[in-house]
Amino acid sequence: MTVKFSIIAPIYNEKDNISELYRRISEVMNSTKASWELILIDDGSLDGSTDQITALAIEHKEVVPLIFARNFGHQIAVTAGLDNSRGEAVVVIDADLQDPPEVILDLIKKWEEGYEVVYAVRAERKGESWFKLVTASLFYRLIYRITNVKIPLDTGDFRLIDRKVVDVMNSMRERHRFLRGMASWVGFKQIGVNYVREPRFAGETKYPLKKMIAFAVTGITGFSYFPLQMATWIGFVAVLISLIAIPVVIIERLTGSQAFLGQATTLIAVLFFGGAQLISLGIIGEYIGRIYDEVKGRPLYVLRDKKYINDRK
Ligand code: UDP
Ligand code: MG
Repeated sequence: MTVKFSIIAPIYNEKDNISELYRRISEVMNSTKASWELILIDDGSLDGSTDQITALAIEHKEVVPLIFARNFGHQIAVTAGLDNSRGEAVVVIDADLQDPPEVILDLIKKWEEGYEVVYAVRAERKGESWFKLVTASLFYRLIYRITNVKIPLDTGDFRLIDRKVVDVMNSMRERHRFLRGMASWVGFKQIGVNYVREPRFAGETKYPLKKMIAFAVTGITGFSYFPLQMATWIGFVAVLISLIAIPVVIIERLTGSQAFLGQATTLIAVLFFGGAQLISLGIIGEYIGRIYDEVKGRPLYVLRDKKYINDRK
């Protein structure tokens, strides 16, 4: 059977959101009169979400559960959903109801007008700390400046993607995934739709600062050489300064001046360049680690049970 719409929701410890998520999504999708499926990816939940997802799948034929063998991370969970989706259009949505399912209708309208990627732009974000708002805003602007794909500002993964684009994205098997970048990279006809991001329906964010930083690094390294090139620029600046400084110091000495004499100047220079070199080395290490991960060629995720996929009609 083919379905018109696949809705993908990654789930990591969201037990109090799942039934409400199904209720809101089924209401919206049934109003379209088209066939649809809801792919719920359990990303190694430990709070009983897994049982809820499987129970929901037994009760409702539209629900397709993908149960991971452990926590593989949000982007990988969405990837598994994309891999196993069958719809002519695929919608990626968060399971915590921060992305209101009703907005899907706006996304579908644009898709029917011929757009192949319709991304939802957060015109307003309710119920988030100022820290998250400021860091997120800075991050989107930084990545816009330093990467060579133009990833739309203030856009998360909430979007509708046409089958053509999903197939291209599924052929991109990179391990450190930044899906919103990948969706921009492919091209095609894209457009944004504004929406108001709601507070979480229940539970806490699964993106603490550490994960946010790791995600930002994945976005930057995946789409830019800028951090690597920084070493080159620092090098050029240092050479330039020394080319000016050397004759200045020689002249000062010849004229009997005591300027720049002593350990402090030497120590500061050594510390500065020692630090700059270590940071550059760390940045190179970050890229090499990612190359190593790619070379190992492990699967992106492990499913506990393929039964639900094999059994679908
Ligand atoms: N999520 C996931 N695996 C993870 C972390 C998060 O599948 O390791 C899911 C989570 O259940 C939610 C979505 O990804 O549906 C977005 O996470 P969250 O709402 O915590 O992020 P925030 O909205 O706070 O940025
Ligand atoms: Mg959220």
